[in-house]
Amino acid sequence: MNKPADTNMETVALWINGRKQAATSTRSGDVTNPATGAVARQVPFCNEADIDAAVQAAKAAFPGWRKTPALRRARVLMRYRELIEKNKEELARLITDEHGKTLVDAAGSVQRGLEVVEFAMGIPHLIKGEHSEEVGTDVDTHSLREPLGVCAGITPFNFPAMVPLWMYPVAIACGNTFILKPSEKVPSTAMRLAELFKEAGLPDGVLNVVHGDKQAVDALLAHPDIRAVSFVGSTPIAKYIYETGAKHGKRVQALGGAKNHAVVLPDADLDFAADALIGAGYGSAGERCMAISAIVAVGDIADALVQKLSERAQNLKIGPGTGKDMDMGPLVTAAHRQKVAGYVDKGLAEGAKLVLDGRSFKATGHEQGFFLGASLFDHVKPEMTIYKDEIFGPVLGVLRVKTLDDAIKLINANPYANGTAVFTRSGGAARKFEREIEVGMVGINVPIPVPIAFFSFGGWRGSLFGDTHVHGTEGVRFYTRGKVVTTRWPDADALPTGFHMPTLG
Ligand code: NAD
Repeated sequence: MNKPADTNMETVALWINGRKQAATSTRSGDVTNPATGAVARQVPFCNEADIDAAVQAAKAAFPGWRKTPALRRARVLMRYRELIEKNKEELARLITDEHGKTLVDAAGSVQRGLEVVEFAMGIPHLIKGEHSEEVGTDVDTHSLREPLGVCAGITPFNFPAMVPLWMYPVAIACGNTFILKPSEKVPSTAMRLAELFKEAGLPDGVLNVVHGDKQAVDALLAHPDIRAVSFVGSTPIAKYIYETGAKHGKRVQALGGAKNHAVVLPDADLDFAADALIGAGYGSAGERCMAISAIVAVGDIADALVQKLSERAQNLKIGPGTGKDMDMGPLVTAAHRQKVAGYVDKGLAEGAKLVLDGRSFKATGHEQGFFLGASLFDHVKPEMTIYKDEIFGPVLGVLRVKTLDDAIKLINANPYANGTAVFTRSGGAARKFEREIEVGMVGINVPIPVPIAFFSFGGWRGSLFGDTHVHGTEGVRFYTRGKVVTTRWPDADALPTGFHMPTLG
């Protein structure tokens, strides 16, 4: 990676108590522009003192925010929604500059995040309690859902706006305060999102942004004043976050990596399936947790399907995300590009058939950028590394099986279980797939079945550690806790409570 020549290079600030602040830590990292390969700015790696400053700000803001009526909190979110909409292009540009994805794709991800803000505007309805009168003579019971306090979110590089927006609008609408630690590879979008929230009227300290690596994350996990941690990232780190957070007594939801399969049945419309799978496999250079990376061809359609995939994949327009009509941008860093190219080497060595080789691709005028072309493997076997590992790049693999039952068995045996899809014209086959597949999010002729904001997003097995998915009603449950109140207003001649187990009736 290039080193910064300019010692006056911009350093990203922290966002604490409603304003930009410098970190006290002297550790930092490079933020690169993946299309050019150049270092664009520095990002501080927070130490324990920096994290504590953010926690203290969030802790101080909690009593006031909690006491703010839910409707007034929702009105701040309504104004935030308008500001995100107004600044969508700028946010998309920040995403493309640090992540590399195309501007259209970046704008689409901002839109999906915005939809969570829209969902969160209606949260007053979802945190209402229940009430039962006369559960015993002159005794009533009601329930409440209360905010937890200070919550933290730790997010991955691949969705600089959308994944943070899965978390903090829901937490904040429920009355919590929040500390976000975005990926150190893409820190700038989160800073702009925090500024816009303040402009919308969010009180200082309710949302804070810190940056860094394992040291910052460990400080968040160990901090006694943080009640809950939401995490999205790779499976080994998700597992670590879940175990460490739980050890420190915190509520944790930790979403991990993925290996998403698309099953193509012999009765499917192959052109429709191929078009859908190209976007799902190579869109965002395969750096999506819901990207399809394993295609399961059932019966005798594999040759025809591979032919159609190959024709489409070799015509993809690859270049800088800011370029006109690009299908795919670069990978996020030089190291990640190298790792993904290494998987193509491994696939060849393990005996898969390389139908299309993207390793030597160069983007004209952007030779230092972290580009890879589209690679396509056929005859991939379950024991191969390119099947077992999450590659997270533009590498699609086709496996061949005889029946739908074989396809379901293969998918249910995979350690990951984030998303999956089936392509078919048969309602019966689709229903069987939906019922028997053990995966959190399922698409029927929909390659990337990302649930809309008022449903919940999350996988099973190695793709989620914890009990609740993000956003939707599950998100509201995660960021609130239940309280049940039993009430009696005795008059002067009421009987005193005895020592027996109260039955109330
Ligand atoms: P990552 O796990 O490397 O990093 C995620 C976050 O964890 C970052 O904020 C990072 O700073 C922090 N982190 C990294 N190493 C750490 C360590 N040793 N200890 C503590 N914290 C650490 O993930 P990434 O490369 O940024 O993102 C890609 C991964 O995220 C892929 O595996 C992808 O499938 C997954 N992802 C999953 C979902 C989902 O919804 N399940 C969504 C998006 C991305």
